[in-house]
Amino acid sequence: MASHQQSAVSTEEQQATDTAEPETALETARRQLERAAAHLEIDDSVLERLEHPAKVHEVTVPLERDDGSVEVFTGYRAQHDSVRGPYKGGLRYHPEVTRDECVGLSMWMTWKCAVMDLPFGGAKGGVVVNPKSLSDSEKERLTRRFTQEIRSVIGPTTDIPAPDMGTDPETMAWIMDAYSMQEGETIPGVVTGKPPVVGGSYGREEAPGRSVAIVTRETCDYYDYPLSDTTVAVQGFGSVGANAARLLEEWGATVVAVSDVNGAIYDSDGIEVGAIPSHDEEPEAVTAYATETPDITQISNERLLELDVDVLVPAAVGNVLTADNAADVAADIVVEGANGPTTFPAAAILEERGVHVIPDILANAGGVTVSYFEWLQDINRRKWSLERVHEELESEMVGAWSAVRDEVEAKNVTWRDAAYVVALSRVAGAHEVRGLWP
Ligand code: GLU
Repeated sequence: MASHQQSAVSTEEQQATDTAEPETALETARRQLERAAAHLEIDDSVLERLEHPAKVHEVTVPLERDDGSVEVFTGYRAQHDSVRGPYKGGLRYHPEVTRDECVGLSMWMTWKCAVMDLPFGGAKGGVVVNPKSLSDSEKERLTRRFTQEIRSVIGPTTDIPAPDMGTDPETMAWIMDAYSMQEGETIPGVVTGKPPVVGGSYGREEAPGRSVAIVTRETCDYYDYPLSDTTVAVQGFGSVGANAARLLEEWGATVVAVSDVNGAIYDSDGIEVGAIPSHDEEPEAVTAYATETPDITQISNERLLELDVDVLVPAAVGNVLTADNAADVAADIVVEGANGPTTFPAAAILEERGVHVIPDILANAGGVTVSYFEWLQDINRRKWSLERVHEELESEMVGAWSAVRDEVEAKNVTWRDAAYVVALSRVAGAHEVRGLWP
């Protein structure tokens, strides 16, 4: 068996690529894969296959606007790898969705499912559209038509979409309905993240935030930061950031700063995050809270990333920790709530500075883990209680975190490398025993 170690790039080449800021999620994903592979004995051909998606579907989605005019949008579904089970991953409605972004994010889904040991592969898709520019009925028509365009490549045993940026449980209900109407039977397992009334799981919406909180708690405990003495800054007060902040506050941490796109708020004595609606619930809530509450200082989103706190949770969008600001991050621990918030060069700077970065593929994996629970409930036509979802998520997250910690200790590598080593050894191992056919 060929070893990837022999073909690993030279130190000089590595240094040269480490300092160049990657432009796309795909580039970051490939660099991360190569870096992790250097710690494992993986067949070169398997590694090369994993650098590419198995399939990328591009579709044209015509939409009749409310005024009767027709506008044409582009949609994608990138399917990276299915060696361990059906493709799985979110659908994003965002004006900056690209083919490459979908491919990069689909690779992250492969590792995310594998690090959690879920029987799924990785996928990601989306439509290039600003969802805020659509009325509810336009969004519904766009979703139903997009579903029709990708209908032949999704399904409960082939590829199971879920919510991501710009999509929500209602969007998933439309996909489930459009797919089921065409198939002639109700098939709830074709998507996850649905409202509970149509087969969605209790606890799915808050699951990514809950997993961020669980992983933060475990990491703080490991590095001897009692939560009652731990300060936290959370960038992004959408579902992930708000749920993580609320749980960490409930478990005793002091959340000193939160933010949304409109700006950040800071109070060294702690912010009562339970009293602030999330950005999804009330888009102006974070900044409105600042004007109503004495002692709260308004700061910029950039400044929030540099606050002298114990834990920083970037839970907004990708590429916020870059080569330009990584040296100014004063937190000791970074827990990635968003997908891809740290660029490859920023990760190298944080590593050199001894900042522990808990990667997205572990930290926010509660979302896809409860998606798996939802899929099981749909297939078995049997609902779980919220209590059961919480218990099972807790045990899956602590189990995955512990497996990654074992690699951190055994190989003396970063948390990101360790998570990739766990994930990649499972995916590559499956490829090696299944073999190449035809
Ligand atoms: N979009 C979410 C993620 O990035 C969830 C994917 C899923 O549940 O399939 O993890």
